[in-house]
Amino acid sequence: MFDTLSDRLTAALQTLTRKGRLSDADIDATAREIRIALLEADVALGVVKTFIARIKERAKGAEVSQALNPAQQVIKIVNEELVAILGGETRRLNLAKTPPTVIMLAGLQGAGKTTLAGKLALWLKKQGHAPMLVACDLQRPNAVTQLQVVGERAGVVTFAPEPGNGVGDPVDVARRAIAEAKHAQHDVVVVDTAGRLGVDEELMKQAADIRDAVDPDEVLFVVDAMIGQDAVTTAEAFRDGVGFTGVVLTKLDGDARGGAALSVREITGQPILFASNGEKLEDFDTFHPDRMASRILG
Ligand code: GDP
Repeated sequence: MFDTLSDRLTAALQTLTRKGRLSDADIDATAREIRIALLEADVALGVVKTFIARIKERAKGAEVSQALNPAQQVIKIVNEELVAILGGETRRLNLAKTPPTVIMLAGLQGAGKTTLAGKLALWLKKQGHAPMLVACDLQRPNAVTQLQVVGERAGVVTFAPEPGNGVGDPVDVARRAIAEAKHAQHDVVVVDTAGRLGVDEELMKQAADIRDAVDPDEVLFVVDAMIGQDAVTTAEAFRDGVGFTGVVLTKLDGDARGGAALSVREITGQPILFASNGEKLEDFDTFHPDRMASRILG
């Protein structure tokens, strides 16, 4: 994952290790290399500019340190700034004081929402919760069945519209699901919603209507990391149309570049909560900015 970016950053920083003192010109040259590496990784231009400006400012202003040589100091700064653009602290899932916690998933079709619902359910179960999945993607043929299948694999209950009752009205399904969750004592409800191939108004309105009906504790924007910087445009559309409290990056296993991962937090202002890295339900975990930064720096 992100091999080219890692290699290029390592190479850019390695040229510094041969130097005793760093001049401003050395720092500018390294910053240029880092800039190219980030742009090639498809990181959004605005994010790259802010990142490079921070590195230069901090590296040029760095105090002479006893413990670290100049090159190590720059590496430390780059690492800290990578952690910062990835979100800083690990952000935990927001749980409701009075259950059920409602988590709504939103994103484009194919982003990995349904798969994520299963992954999240399994993860929640392992944390001692009793989750319930809710099928509110009534647009895509088979979406309900697909959710039921991942629910079964995760060993959790899936609430789906019965034939003739609520079919075609996701808002009604969502409302009834919350009532059922309270009744059956499910403490977390994960609501899968419809996605389209592209952002459209009808999709946004439907998602906003479901949001208003269920008053979620978290709205997670699910985005395929492989679409790189395009994730930014999609994220902005969902932020303006529905609003979200966190991001889930999917298909990190297939993302060779890293553009989405490095751009989405800074652009949307919302933290990345989870990362999905495979088709199996277990290929999923909490997102840790510091661990990701260490992996990128190799
Ligand atoms: P939805 O339309 O947003 O509900 O997306 P799906 O959950 O149906 O996922 C679309 C495709 O992506 C399916 O073939 C999934 O198996 C696949 N997929 C989902 N998450 C991941 C992931 O993290 N890694 C990989 N490699 N494939 C994934």
